[in-house]
Amino acid sequence: MKGIIMIIDGMADRPLKELDNKTPLEAAKTPNMDKMAKIGINGIMDPIKPGIRAGSDTSHISILGYDPYQVYTGRGPFEAAGVGIEVLPGDIAFRCNFSTASEEGLIIDRRAGRIREKTKQLASSLNSIQLEGFEDVEIIFKESTGHRSVLVLRGSGLSDQVSDADPKKEGKAPKEILGLDGSTEAEKTARVLNKFVSESYNILKDHPLNLERIEAGKPPGNIVLPRGAGAVPDVQPFNEKYGLKSACIAETGLIMGIGKLAGMDIIEVEGATGGADTDLDSISQSIIENASKYNFLLINIDGADEAGHDGNLQEKVNFLEKVDAVIGEVMKIPDTCFILTADHSTPISVMDHTGDPVPLVINGPEIRVDDVEKFDERSATKGGLCRIRGSDIMNILMDIMNKSEKFGA
Ligand code: ZN
Ligand code: ZN
Repeated sequence: MKGIIMIIDGMADRPLKELDNKTPLEAAKTPNMDKMAKIGINGIMDPIKPGIRAGSDTSHISILGYDPYQVYTGRGPFEAAGVGIEVLPGDIAFRCNFSTASEEGLIIDRRAGRIREKTKQLASSLNSIQLEGFEDVEIIFKESTGHRSVLVLRGSGLSDQVSDADPKKEGKAPKEILGLDGSTEAEKTARVLNKFVSESYNILKDHPLNLERIEAGKPPGNIVLPRGAGAVPDVQPFNEKYGLKSACIAETGLIMGIGKLAGMDIIEVEGATGGADTDLDSISQSIIENASKYNFLLINIDGADEAGHDGNLQEKVNFLEKVDAVIGEVMKIPDTCFILTADHSTPISVMDHTGDPVPLVINGPEIRVDDVEKFDERSATKGGLCRIRGSDIMNILMDIMNKSEKFGA
């Protein structure tokens, strides 16, 4: 038997006046999700704990059966793994922006005019540089999407207890990075980072690509501002933990990075944008193709979360109706325990994640089907699973797949 966990990112919501007090999921026409509810067992799920506003990262970590309070030290490590850096436990990783600094050293554009093109060239001029006085620290630097990039520091005596360089506002100088816990490791890391930030300006300010941008009247990406420090955790590989052959199909670097750090194979989907305009047919195809190669798939589709963050009600409803077709395709995969849920609520009214529980349904052979007939936040509360936590999901899945060990005699 196969296991599939499909997460429609930020799908759950709160009742809206504009929808006669329905949620977007209650209002959307989703015949396949409703069919799953009818032939499955339903419930609601707190990704971490009741009322905790989970990030996409911490929620996925919890759903995969890891403790986010132990594993999650910051977003950096997951972003770094997501862009394909082979991170090692103990590495200190950061998310970075290419920004624009003026000659006076002030940040005049935090995103360097949302630079998109050729950031690979800028990044490779910073990768593997040696910082004077810190020859023992290896610098790994790689571009991500748009103005984003990732920095990894590798070496002994480093710490993730350091502040950010991003001043968050334009017209200010980069913040001096400070150690946060008074340790010599944090002090050293802060000095390394401050040196890296000033070196990034020295190297990038006259980079041919930036001279080209200035010529064209565009802000140059001439400085790098790190933030979101985290130490790469030492996690037990998912396949070893559960005896599965697993893969992760996701749209965003963050979720791919979680799969990567858990040792899963990462499947890149052509045409996946992470937005409402993503190529859902291409995602469907990739799921069907890979279902025959693996006995566990983690799938994340991101568009509903983006619509939620934008407060775009119509787009959220439309996207849920469109993604329903993908669910119809996944339902056809034989001999599968198929779990459909969300990683958190992203209510239109809040435009960010909240701690409201999310609906969850399981289909599969020998499932104790309950009386729920629709898949949404309120119908699911009447289901046979009642209220569970994200950390229960893998236990339940392994039990249904008859892959669990007995506890006791
Ligand atoms: Zn999410
Ligand atoms: Zn989100």
